[in-house]
Amino acid sequence: MDQIRLIVQIKAGAKRRRDGMCILLPDFYPIRDAPRLPFLREVFIMMRPFSPLRRVLAWIWLAFAAWSSWMGAGLAGWGQAPEPMPALIIDGQNNHGIWPKTTMMIKRYLEETRLFRVDIARTKYTWQGEEWLDKFPIGDGVKRESVKEPKPDPDFRPDFSKYKVVISNLGFGAAEWPEETKSELEKFVFNGGGLVILHAANNSFGEWKAFNRMIGLGGWGGRNEKTGPYVYLNQDEKEVRDTVPGGGGSHGAQHEFQIIIRDPKHPITQGLPRVWLHTQDELYDRLRGPGENMQILATAFSSKDQGGTDRHEPMIMTVGYGKGRVFHTPMGHADYSMECAGFITVLRRGTEWAATGAVTQSDVPKDFPTEDKASRRPFE
Ligand code: ZN
Repeated sequence: MDQIRLIVQIKAGAKRRRDGMCILLPDFYPIRDAPRLPFLREVFIMMRPFSPLRRVLAWIWLAFAAWSSWMGAGLAGWGQAPEPMPALIIDGQNNHGIWPKTTMMIKRYLEETRLFRVDIARTKYTWQGEEWLDKFPIGDGVKRESVKEPKPDPDFRPDFSKYKVVISNLGFGAAEWPEETKSELEKFVFNGGGLVILHAANNSFGEWKAFNRMIGLGGWGGRNEKTGPYVYLNQDEKEVRDTVPGGGGSHGAQHEFQIIIRDPKHPITQGLPRVWLHTQDELYDRLRGPGENMQILATAFSSKDQGGTDRHEPMIMTVGYGKGRVFHTPMGHADYSMECAGFITVLRRGTEWAATGAVTQSDVPKDFPTEDKASRRPFE
C-alpha cells in the first residue's frame, strides 16, 4: 500500500521531496495560496500533489471545459426565441375615427417582430370610431359605452408597471385622466419605462405639464407659447427654437412626403436610407413644447405648396425623461399612412428603443421606400 502511495506521489511530482514517506499531503503549493472560491479551492487542493507542468495542463483543460460548456449553453439558447416584452397600447378617445383599426395595426406590427406581447387598455367611454369598434374587437369582454362628447373614465387605471413600454393611440380631445393615473404614467416613465407617441397622441392633454415634458413637442389641445417654443429646422437646416406667441400644431393637405434622416447613427435610424418617401399622411407643423432632452432624428420639409410652413418639421424624435425614454413620431394620420413600410420599420425600432434603450432589428426590409418611391403594405 505504501508502495502504491509512493508511486502515486512520485507520479504526481512529489518525488522532489526529500522525505519520500511524508507524501500523503505534499505542500509544494501552500494551502494559504488557495483561491477563495469554494470550487476553485477544491481543485487547487486536489492538484497540490501535481508537478507544475501537470498543474498548468489541468487548469488549461478545466478552462477549456468551462468555455465549451458555456458556448454549448449559448448555442442551445440561440435556437429559442427570447421571451416577448410586455407592451401596452392605451386608446379609447381620438378624433381620428379610424383608431380601433390603427390600434390593431400597431399591435400586429409590434407582435410580428416577436419582441413584444401587446395588451390594450381602453377607456370605458369611447369617443369616435363607432363604425370600427365591431370590426376590430379587442375581445377583453368589457362592456363599453360610446359617447357623443369625450368623457373622463374615473376607473381608467392601467398597471403601467407591468409593462416595458406604453404606446399612446389616444388623440385630440381625449378626456382628462384621474390624477392617480397621470402620476402613475409620470412615475413609470421617470423610473425607466418607455413611452411611444404616435401622430394625434401629441394632441392630448395640452394642460398636463409633465406630459408635455415627456412628449417634447405637441399640437392643439390649448398649446401655445406657455407650453414651450416652436422647434424646427430652418431653410439652412439649423435647429430653431422660437418663443413667438401662437397656437401649437397645424397641417396642410395630406400628401406623400420625404423623410430626411438627421442622425444616421442613432439605433432607431441606423442603416436606413437617408431620404425616403413616406405614404400619404398629414405633415404636422408648428409643434411646440418644452423640447427638453429632445433629439430630432428625422424631419420632413413642409412645403408652402401643400399649405405648410416652408420649414423642416420634426418627424422622428427621442426624449429623455428621468431614466425613461420616449419615442415620438407625428406620422400616422390614417390606416394608409401606417401601412408605409418606412413607418412600420420606424415604429418597431422606436418602440424597442423606448423599451430597452437598444435596437436589435438592424435589417432594413427589402420593401423599404426609396427617395422617390413610397412603399405600402396593405393591412388586411
Ligand atoms: Zn391626423
